[in-house]
Amino acid sequence: MIPATEVRILAGLYYIMEKVSYHTHTTISDGKLSPRELIECAIEKGFKTLAITDHYTRPSGISSSGWGEEFYTDEDYLEMKSLQKEYADRIDILVGAEFEWYFDKKDWLFGEINRRVYDIKIVSIHQIFVKGKYYTINYSDDIFEEVLDVLEGDVKKMVAIYYETLREAVRSGWFDVVGHFDVIKARNESSKYFSEDEGWYKEEVLKTLDVIEEVGIKMEVNLQGFDKPCGEQWPSKWIIDEAKNRGIELVVGTDAHDEDGLDYNVDEVEKILN
Ligand SMILES: [Zn+2]
Ligand SMILES: [Zn+2]
Repeated sequence: MIPATEVRILAGLYYIMEKVSYHTHTTISDGKLSPRELIECAIEKGFKTLAITDHYTRPSGISSSGWGEEFYTDEDYLEMKSLQKEYADRIDILVGAEFEWYFDKKDWLFGEINRRVYDIKIVSIHQIFVKGKYYTINYSDDIFEEVLDVLEGDVKKMVAIYYETLREAVRSGWFDVVGHFDVIKARNESSKYFSEDEGWYKEEVLKTLDVIEEVGIKMEVNLQGFDKPCGEQWPSKWIIDEAKNRGIELVVGTDAHDEDGLDYNVDEVEKILN
């Protein structure tokens, strides 16, 4: 289980009480540092808590950019458990994973999630299933546009598929945290594909927040978006405000893939939350 969150509300203002990241990657998936190197780096940077949440392996037969079937082996998991013990007097390590939702591989996923005990299970959508194929929608403009082409330019449809996939994942009740809630906006620099002010977009978001509230899952404020074309955190400020109004619990994740990413923009968090 995730310990008490670092986000505290005092007199209506949100404060970050300690340096943490509930979302990081190592060489177990697509990160650059080994788990030990990341932990050492976190201690050096003054972190009190570090969740290591590598991408979980994907089922065979599903092609995707940057995701390996070799991610997160049993050996990796055991190494993490042993590092957690070894460093226990210096830093709280949470052994976690970032899971993808495969609507047609639910039995496989359920079995995999329950094969090991995790301190934190994040569910994030990176891939959507469109006309018989999975596409990774946040990595490149090319893939984003390819999906749009397949949907004959219907961006509303694409956004709807994304949020419906996320709602289905949340409804399962299998996870602790929703990762990068609106990563669908990753390529949406200067609202070039859609405007978040439009009613149809707001409706998709609010419907999804309703499900998050109902299920009682936490939502992360993910800082990696600053480094992407959208140029800001996930989720957008107005979505964070809606989540706060609903009493949805927020956690901070830097989604680090290297040393610099570990505390990337953590100083911005209080500003974002208030
Ligand atoms: Zn992710
Ligand atoms: Zn991640």
